[in-house]
Amino acid sequence: MTQKHDNLIGGQWLAGSNYTPNINPSNLADVIGDYTQASAEQLDAAVQAARAAFPAWSTSGIQARADALDKIGTEILARREELGTLLSREEGKTKAEGIGEATRAGNIFKFFAGECLRLTGEVVPSVRPGIGVEITREPVGVIGIITPWNFPIAIPAWKIAPALAYGNCVVMKPADLVPGCAWALAEIISRSGIPAGVFNLVMGRGSVIGDPLVNHPGVDAISFTGSQGVGSRIAQQCAVNLKKVQLEMGGKNPQVILDDADLAQAVELSVQSAFFSTGQRCTASSRLIVTEGIYPKFIEAMKARMAGLKVGDALAAGIDIGPVSSLSQLEQDMSYVDIGQAEGAVLLAGGERLKLSTDGFFMAPALLTDTTADMRINREEVFGPVASIIRVKGYEEALLEANNTPFGLAAGIATTSLKHATHFKRHSQVGMVMVNLPTAGVDYHVPFGGRKGSSYGSREQGRYAQEFFTIVKTAYTLA
Ligand code: NAD
Repeated sequence: MTQKHDNLIGGQWLAGSNYTPNINPSNLADVIGDYTQASAEQLDAAVQAARAAFPAWSTSGIQARADALDKIGTEILARREELGTLLSREEGKTKAEGIGEATRAGNIFKFFAGECLRLTGEVVPSVRPGIGVEITREPVGVIGIITPWNFPIAIPAWKIAPALAYGNCVVMKPADLVPGCAWALAEIISRSGIPAGVFNLVMGRGSVIGDPLVNHPGVDAISFTGSQGVGSRIAQQCAVNLKKVQLEMGGKNPQVILDDADLAQAVELSVQSAFFSTGQRCTASSRLIVTEGIYPKFIEAMKARMAGLKVGDALAAGIDIGPVSSLSQLEQDMSYVDIGQAEGAVLLAGGERLKLSTDGFFMAPALLTDTTADMRINREEVFGPVASIIRVKGYEEALLEANNTPFGLAAGIATTSLKHATHFKRHSQVGMVMVNLPTAGVDYHVPFGGRKGSSYGSREQGRYAQEFFTIVKTAYTLA
C-alpha cells in the first residue's frame, strides 16, 4: 500500500476525484505515493476559502507573517536531506542537487520572513500646498500559482513565500508529474500558524485544474512558470479578464567561449550548465558559441570531459546526471538529436538511451557540432541533456549569434578580456548574464527573470518580487 496524499483546502485535507501514482524516473518500479486529483468543485472551494481568509490575513500583523515564514524556512532547512531525497526520487536530479534545491527553498522562506518587516512606502510633497501624499503597497488578493516539474520545491517556494509575506492568499497547483515536494511543502505550511484558507493546494492536470484556476473570477492574479505555449495562452486569458499576470518560461541560453578563455574553466562551466540537472533547467546553456581559435581544443576537451560523466540513479553516490524526468520528455530529447542530425549537425557524443540496472529514463548527454543558428536545434527549447555548438569567427559574431533567438532568459561568456566581458554584460539581450560562470545557478535574494519570449511581467525573487505581489496606492490628505 502506498501512502495517499490529499488536497489542502480551507485547512482540511480532502480527497479528490481519484489518485495517480508518483513514479520514480530512476526506477519505474518504485512508486513514491498516490496523489489525489482535485475536482472542479474543489478548485472552486479552494478559491472561496482563500477569498474568505483574505480580509484577516491581508490586515494581519507583519510579525505574525514573519514568524510563520521563518518557521516554514527553519523546518525545510532542518529536513533538507529528507526533502532533497524526495525531490531527487520524484524529479530525477542528483541527491546533491535535490538537497541544494531544498536548501534554497528554506532560504527563500527565511529571506521573505525578513521582507515582511522591510516593506516601505514614500511620503512626498504635493504640488498643491497643504496636502500630503503617501505612496504605499497593499496585497493584491488571491494569487493562483502554477508551477512546472523541474524545480518541484524551489519554484513553489519563490512564489508562495512573497505572496504570503505581502499579505496575499494562495491557491497553488503544482505540476502533476511531481506533486510530492509540493505536498510536503503544503504540509509544513499547514502547521506553521498560518490561518486556514490562506494557503491552499490543489493537485491535478493543467487542463483540468490549471485552466479553471486561471479563469476563476475569485482569483486576482496568476504567477506561472512553465512552457512558452501554456504561458502565452494564460497571458491572453488574464488579459481578457484584466488579471495581473507574471510568466517565467523557456530558454535557449547561449554560452559564448572566446579564444582567450581559460579552457578548463570554459569546459567545466559548459558541461555543468548544459548537462547537470539532466539539462532540465530553464537557465541551461543549450547553445555553445565558440570562436574559431579555441574551437578544436574546446571540442576535444568537451569530448574527454563528457566521456567521464556518470549517468545513473539519482539517489546513487558518485552520479553526475540523473534520469530524464518522464518518458515523453525523453522521447522529445531523443527526437531533437535526430532532428539536429537531419538538419546537418554532427553528433560528437552521447544521444542514446542508456540501459542501466533499474528501468529508468536514462540518456547519455548529447553534444552536436557543425550547427547553424537557423536550425531547429538552435531555435527551439529541448529541455533535456542536449546541447549544440555554433562556430563563429570572433566576439562580434558571437554576440550576434547569442542574441539570435526568440528567447532571452540567461547568457554566459567565458573570457579573460575585461573589454569583451563588459560589452557582453551590457549587450546580451537577456535578464541574467554570467561572466566565467555557468548560465544555470543563481542566488535566491536577487531578481530572476528574462526578456523576449522567456518572461512576461515583473521580476520574481529578491525584493523585486513586491512589484508583482503588491499593488501601489497613492493617498492624499488635506492637512
Ligand atoms: P508546462 O507549461 O507544460 O506546465 C507548467 C504548469 O502549467 C504545470 O503545472 C501544468 O500542469 C500547467 N498547465 C498546463 N496546461 C495548462 C493550462 N491550459 N492552463 C493552466 N495551467 C496549465 O511546463 P513544464 O513541462 O511543467 O515545465 C517545463 C517548462 O518550464 C520549460 O519550458 C522550462 O523552460 C520552463 N521553466 C521556466 C523557468 C523560468 O523561471 N523561466 C523555470 C523552470 C522551468
